[in-house]
Amino acid sequence: MTTPTTGCCVWMTGLSGAGKSTIAQVLVERLTAAGRIVTLLDGDVVRTHLSKGLGFSKADRDANVLRIAFVASEIVRHGGVVIVAAVSPYESTRNQARTMVGPESFLLVHVATPLAVCERRDVKGLYARARRGELSGLTGIDDPYEPPVHPDVVLDTANATPDGSADAIWRVLVSRGVATPTSVS
Ligand code: ADP
Repeated sequence: MTTPTTGCCVWMTGLSGAGKSTIAQVLVERLTAAGRIVTLLDGDVVRTHLSKGLGFSKADRDANVLRIAFVASEIVRHGGVVIVAAVSPYESTRNQARTMVGPESFLLVHVATPLAVCERRDVKGLYARARRGELSGLTGIDDPYEPPVHPDVVLDTANATPDGSADAIWRVLVSRGVATPTSVS
């Protein structure tokens, strides 16, 4: 069977520690094994390169998301697959990203892990720093997170494994012709 060449952007939004990067990594491996060339735009990495110098004000967060969306739109336009793992807390900015990429090629995944679970994981120690008053503007603590109004997929990672969460996204990718059912999983 030939490898599909449909462009697609999987955009993962959610709180810090929700599991975006972890699930994105599983998807990258599966898509690569299925013969697709995949670009991962991880928020933390993007902020050290593409968005170096930007902070966490609303204006800077929006600029960060729109830069990612621009790169994602170019990748999709050329038939590639791009996975974005970024907090991207604002509904209107995510909608702008959807428009830039093209709604038919945009898959919005809400990694809807509850704040309490993210805080218990505290992968980067950010929540502890915020609770100690050493960090301000942390999404979910003293900065807003607007849950997506129309997500394509909602994942509750508190009751699933990263593989199980990736399965739910994989099924949609297959239904959209981005991956073939026989490829993996
Ligand atoms: P984010 O990218 O959203 O900030 P990370 O992927 O960096 O989050 O961290 C999520 C943490 O939660 C990781 O340590 C991961 O191993 C753990 N985890 C536990 N269960 C899951 C799951 N079902 N899906 C994703 N991550 C999970």
